[in-house]
Formats: sequence, structure tokens, C-alpha cells
Amino acid sequence: MQNRRKFLKTSLLTAAGAGLASKSFSNYSVSSFKEEKKIIYRTLGKTGIKIPIVSMGTGNTNNPGLINEAYKQGIKFFATSEYYQNGNNEKMLGEVFKDKPRDSFYIQSAAIGGVEIDYKNGLFKPETNADTYLEHANGCLKRLQVDYVDFFSLGFAAKKESVLYEPLLKALEKFKKQGKTKYLGIGTHSFEPEAIRAAADAGIYDVIMTAYNFRKNNIEEIDEAITYAAEKGLGIIAMKTMAGAYWDKERTMPINTKASLKWVLKNENIHTTVPDCSSFDHLYQNLGLMTDLELSEEEKRDLKSPSEELSTGIYCQQCGKCVPQCPEGLDIPTIMRSYMYAYGHKNLSHAQHTFDVARVPDESCFGCSTCVVDCTMGFDIKTKILDIARIQDIPQEFIST
Ligand code: SF4
Ligand code: SF4
Repeated sequence: MQNRRKFLKTSLLTAAGAGLASKSFSNYSVSSFKEEKKIIYRTLGKTGIKIPIVSMGTGNTNNPGLINEAYKQGIKFFATSEYYQNGNNEKMLGEVFKDKPRDSFYIQSAAIGGVEIDYKNGLFKPETNADTYLEHANGCLKRLQVDYVDFFSLGFAAKKESVLYEPLLKALEKFKKQGKTKYLGIGTHSFEPEAIRAAADAGIYDVIMTAYNFRKNNIEEIDEAITYAAEKGLGIIAMKTMAGAYWDKERTMPINTKASLKWVLKNENIHTTVPDCSSFDHLYQNLGLMTDLELSEEEKRDLKSPSEELSTGIYCQQCGKCVPQCPEGLDIPTIMRSYMYAYGHKNLSHAQHTFDVARVPDESCFGCSTCVVDCTMGFDIKTKILDIARIQDIPQEFIST
């Protein structure tokens, strides 16, 4: 994509700088939430495990100090994946937890190796190889330096057929039988209601991690599916709770992430959450929520779009409605996730990896004088694709963690 190289890299590298800044310790000085406040716990469905309503998704940090502090302050559940930083996120967690009592924390991970996903339709492709998947699942344990994980998740399970994809179901059951995970789950970013209901009916899953936030267009449908799954005893974990974290790509208008997390937890069928956490400021804000869920009037107002212009935000619904409209068949939902990771979460490593996953052919979009895609959120798709495509040009060593 030669033309793409002509675009300025300034904003993306600024984002990288911000991400790197989060490696240092914050000057924050807080007393222990664990000791001073009454933390709200919920039970993760039929697992019977009681955990604080705020847990930690570790994919946005490479700072072991931050993980250590979260653990010290009472966070129990840490969600990682082989997908994050090419396994290095798991390695970091392994180093942090290797000397801690094994029953003092819960780890969830997921393997991606061996799984070929058609992100455009949410299905696993026939090239998916269960043996390779299991090798990668074992790799997760090795990197985490544990004999077992508490939860092992089938990531990117979107459609019913994926949740019930037999070769992977068998592999997951084998992994569990071997004592390598206590519980099984799915992670779903798109077509959530269908995936949630399928997981609830499958009979082998214990937990569901789903995208859930105040910007979701189909929240009623998701709520109904969650109620269905919770009544069947599944534990429900909410991710993507920050809805992109910013209203604008320039990051001048942050979403009130405290309010958005409180909004998520108003649903008592959400048993815990894994809000993004890339700095000590984020961590302490999230911890503050473990004791108080009341949304103030101001916070309720903050959950409305600040202006007509910013009403689209940067959060992609992952609804897939754009895919059949694009004559080049681009995986626009995945590209938009990459966009959100770069601009909303300042996680360029994750954004670059996700952009790679979308396999965007060189020169895409340059051939279209007008983009024919009518996005549900009103995104200017072509502009966003050309913008985020620059992420391929940033050398790995500048952004890898
Ligand atoms: S880009 Fe728009 S249409 Fe496509 S998945 Fe995202 S919100 Fe839906
Ligand atoms: S400009 Fe729009 S229609 Fe053309 S390839 Fe890009 S996304 Fe598809």
C-alpha cells in the first residue's frame, strides 16, 4: 500500500508515546481499598466463585507493577490471552504470580493458534486445527507458569456454529479433563445474543465474557440473552465496558469511564467486569467502583453524546452490516476494532496485531472514489480505514511490548 505511506504518522505515534508513559509508576497515593472499604462481590454463576465486581483485563498493559498493585488492592480475577502481545502478556502475568499462593487469584486465558476465524461472518474456518489449538492452549499454561488456569475461553466465538464447533469443543473438553482448566467459557465481541444463548445451551461452558456497554445498539437483546444464560447458571463477565474510552480520535473528549462501568454493573446478572486498565489512574478509578455503584445525575448526563458531531464516537458495534456492502469484501469490523484500540485505548501493539488479522489487501479503498458503505454508527469508513492502515508502517520495535 505505497500511497498509504504518504500519510503522516504523527497521531499514531503520539498514541504510542502515551501508551509507553503508562509503564511508569503513577504518583498516586492511595490507601488499601481492601482494608478500608466494603468491596461488592458477586458469584460467578454455578462455579460458586465469589469475586469483586471489578476484575482486570490485562491486555492493555505490559507493566507487572500495575498487576501487582491490582492484586494487592483486592482484584482476584485476571483475564489475558495468547492474542495479547503475542503471548508476552501471559509471560508477564506468569512472572507476577509465580510466587503467590495459587488459590489467591484466578486466571483466565485463551489460545488463538490453530483457530482460523472468518471475522466477517463470525465462523471458524475448516482449516481450524484442534491439535494445533491444544498445543497453543498448553503454551498458555507454560507462559503463565501454572499447571492449570481457572478459566479457559474460546475467544471470538460469535455465531452459534462457532460456539458449538465440534473439533474445538472436543479439544476444550480434553483440556479440562486433563485438569488444565477448571472451567470453560467463551468470549464474544459480535453477534453476542446468539453466542450467549448457544453457550448457555451447550452444556460444557461455565462462563461467558461478552462485550457490554452503554453504546451497544442491541443492548435489550443482549440483556435478554444474558438473563437466559444467568438463569441457566452461567457466570457473566463484561468486557469492552468503556465503549472505546473516547468520543473522538483526538482524545479531547474522554468517555466518563467510571460512569460507563457503573452503568454496566447496574445489571446484576453481570457478575464481574474486566475494564481496560493501562495505568495506575485507571486502576484506582476502577477500584473506587468496587464499593459504590450509584450513578449521579452528572454521570448519567455524561453517558449521553456531548454533541451531534461526536455522536458516532469511535466504538464499532461489530454488527457486521458493513461487510456485504463493501465490493472488496474488507473485514471492516476488525479494522474498526483496530482503530478503537489505537485511538481509544492507546494500545498500538494490539491495534497493529488486529489490523494484521483483518488481512487488508494493499491499496484497498484507493480504487473507490466514493465509499458505498452505510455504517450503522455513521462512521466515515473509507477515511477511518486509510487512517488506521498507517499502523502497518510503524516499526514493531517502537510499539511492541
Ligand atoms: S463499521 Fe459500522 S456497520 Fe460495520 S460493524 Fe462497525 S458499526 Fe457495524
Ligand atoms: S472505500 Fe468503502 S467500499 Fe471501497 S473498499 Fe473501502 S470500505 Fe469498501
